[in-house]
Formats: sequence, structure tokens, C-alpha cells
Amino acid sequence: MSTNHAYSFFGAVEKSFDKAAVFTNWDPGILQQIKKCNAVYNVHFPVKIGDQVEVIEAFRVQHSHHKTPCKGGIRFSTAVNLDEVMALAALMTYKCAIVNVPFGGAKGGITIDPKKYTVYELEKITRRYTSELIKKNFIGPGTDVPAPDYGTGEREMAWILDTYTTMRPGEIDAAGCVTGKPISQGGVRGRKEATGLGVFYGIREICKMPDIMKKLGLKEGIAGKTVIVQGLGNVGYHAAKFFREAGAKVVCLAEHDGAVYNDAGLNEEEVFQHKKRTGSILNFPGSKNIASSAEALELECDILIPAALENVIDGTNAPNIKAKIIAEAANGPLTPEADEVFIERGILVVPDMYLNAGGVTVSYFEWLKNLSHVRYGRMEKRFTENLNAHIIGQLEELTSKKVSIKEKEFIMHGADEIDLVYSGLEETMITATNEIMDCWKANPNIPDMRTAAYVVAINKVATSYAELGIFP
Ligand code: GLU
Repeated sequence: MSTNHAYSFFGAVEKSFDKAAVFTNWDPGILQQIKKCNAVYNVHFPVKIGDQVEVIEAFRVQHSHHKTPCKGGIRFSTAVNLDEVMALAALMTYKCAIVNVPFGGAKGGITIDPKKYTVYELEKITRRYTSELIKKNFIGPGTDVPAPDYGTGEREMAWILDTYTTMRPGEIDAAGCVTGKPISQGGVRGRKEATGLGVFYGIREICKMPDIMKKLGLKEGIAGKTVIVQGLGNVGYHAAKFFREAGAKVVCLAEHDGAVYNDAGLNEEEVFQHKKRTGSILNFPGSKNIASSAEALELECDILIPAALENVIDGTNAPNIKAKIIAEAANGPLTPEADEVFIERGILVVPDMYLNAGGVTVSYFEWLKNLSHVRYGRMEKRFTENLNAHIIGQLEELTSKKVSIKEKEFIMHGADEIDLVYSGLEETMITATNEIMDCWKANPNIPDMRTAAYVVAINKVATSYAELGIFP
């Protein structure tokens, strides 16, 4: 793992961008404009913690205004700094472009360790941060829409919405000022598992490609593949769940304090409950402890899923990785140096800014739900069910045969919100995977899938800028 503190995450994103830009024909000025962060907000505010005043540092970066609103999560971590937030905001721009979600990229963060505060204190910090964003017009359903990220979840999103509606009373579309909300506050079903599910859909699509599988020396399909997941947060937990349910063997789960290994496969929910009880995933019954998370990354497996933080695989540990596919569920888990090692070694890196786009895709569905003020499926569910029942009735009458109860239930079922969200996400991930692979195949000089993904993203954002016209 990297110990190089001079490492710039934003610099790494720029490097990957430049590597891809040579495969496009855009005006250098347009490329320069795409790379830059359009607006950066760095704020300090005081919050009373106990009987002391603490100065909190926070950020919101809007990387691109080529489409509005801007979109991206809010991170609570001591590692949050300007360079990190800029990099994550830029990744959001490319991510949204690749999956055809009509937003510009943004990201926010507060430099705190959320574990050190009580729920009441966290609420105070989150609400004050939201007020600071409102003051500068850095939040709103048409300007900039935050979401959960590392260290935040539904609870924080509900506080953000409540602060926004309190300060902006009467705004009819206020619920669309933030996504990842609880269902009762305008959230959408399926948002919580969306990123992990998107990772699964993306990798499943790649594992269906005979040429790619042949090159990697793997059999087609997910069933039977061995998987290692680093990070048992929301993204890692759900990725592990969907891979296990599809017949993969999750042999190792890693967290910051070490990992657990079982070659017969682990159940993420059981490991999660064990962690809840004991405070650590270590000593999970029937499994072997691995001393460090970094060591777990280097174990034998078919698919390695880093689902925690950036910069965990660099030029130093990349030569030791044994996986055939690296599925970037986290944002920026690999450095550009690691990329070069994997190109050399013929290991397929499936890049973050497309593979983990499930979160923002379903955020888009949530935002649309908020603007339309109606739950998905409400209007058509019964209509479809009645129509299908009628069709089955007619079929039975004409053939004098009965459709089985199980089949009848399946055919009659009208789509609910969760069905539509999953279907929209599946379609999005399949289309994006194929767009990137087609771009890669069309230009064999492109060295890796990340570069192909950047080419796709650059072409879309640049087209948007070009068609927008630049202010004379
Ligand atoms: N934080 C997530 C990401 O990095 C989701 C962002 C969103 O839903 O806006 O993609």
C-alpha cells in the first residue's frame, strides 16, 4: 500500500485523462476545460462539541457544469482534503457521462472522523454544512445534488433535506436537492444496494464475453468464480451479496483491521453480524484470520473487488496481485502506476468511473421520482396485472389447459418501483459495458479498459461542450 503522502489523487485522474485524450480529436482548449474543476468551495465553520468550540473544515467541488445539476456524494473522513474532493468530483463527471446520466460531476466532504462524535453532534455538523452550501448556492434540485459516500448514509441525507426545506420553504421540488434519502423522505427503493448491484451487473456482462474470458483464461459466467472483497461497507457488502447469490464463492472479506478467509466461501451477512457483535470481522467462526487488508488483496482469486478507499493498489503491490479481474467498486483504488503493471501482466482492470456508477444511476431515478412526485409503478402496476390476468384467462379458455399457479404469478406480476429500478440499472450497466468495449475494440491501440472508458466519457462531455457553444 502506498505510503507516499505527496501522491496527488487529482493528479492521477488528470494523468489517466491525458492518456486517453490522445485517442480523441478534440480542440486542446476543450480538453483543458473538461479537466479543470469549475467551482471549488472550501469552508470552515465552528460547532460546539461538548463545552468546546471545534472548527470544522468542509468542501464542495463542482467539477463540471456542462450539464446541471451537478451530482456527487458527501464523504465524512479524516482523509478528506481538497485534492481528494477534486479528484472524486472529476470522476463523477466522467461517470455520469459514461452511463448517460445527465448531470455534471461534483463531490463534497467534511474532514472529520464520524466515529468520534455523538449522533446529535453529527447532526449539528451536517446541518451546519448544509446551511453553508445553501448560502453559496452549492445545493438545490437544479444546481447541485449531494448523495451518500464513504462515512455517510440515509440518515445524513435526511438531515440535509430537512435543513434545506427549512431554509427554502415552499420549494415544490425541494426533495430533489439530495438523493440516497430514506424511503419515507422521498428516497427510491433499490438505492442502498445500487452501487454493489451495478458492480455485479457490469462484471456479469464482462464474464459473458467469450473473447475476454478466453484471454484471461477464465470460463464464462459468474458461477464458480472466486471473489475477494475489500471493504464491508454498503458497496462491498452488497457486491459480495450479489456475487454469492449468483453462485460465486466469496473466499475472503477484508476490512481495515484485517481479513477473514474461507475457501468454501463466506456469507457476507453472517460476517457482518459477527462484526456487529464483536466490533471486528476477525475470528469469524470457521475462517482463517489474515493479518492485514493489504495482504488479503494479494491472495489467489478470479475477481478482486476493492470496495473501500482510493490508492490501495500502487506500483509496489500490483506485481503481487493474483486476481485475473480487478473490479473497481471504490473510487480510485488503483494508481496509474498500478495500471501500467496490470497492462503488462494481462490482468483486466474494470474501471471505477463506470463500474461503480450504479449509485449515481439510481440517484438519477430518485431525483426523477422527486421531480415527478409519484412512486414508480403507481400508475401502471394494476393495469398490467389486470391485462395479464385477462390474457391468461383467454389462453386457458382457447386451449382448454390451465397455466400453473407459479407461472401465472410470474406472468401476471405488474412492475413495482423496485422492479423498475433494478431493470433500469441493469439496462444502464449493460449498455455502458458494451459502449466501452466497442470503443476499445474499434481502437486496438488503446491499452486498457480505463483508457477506453475515458475516451467514451471525453467524447460525450466534449460533444456537449461543443454543441453548447462557448461564450464568445
Ligand atoms: N457517492 C456515490 C459515487 O461515488 C454516489 C453519488 C451519487 O449518487 O450522486 O458514485
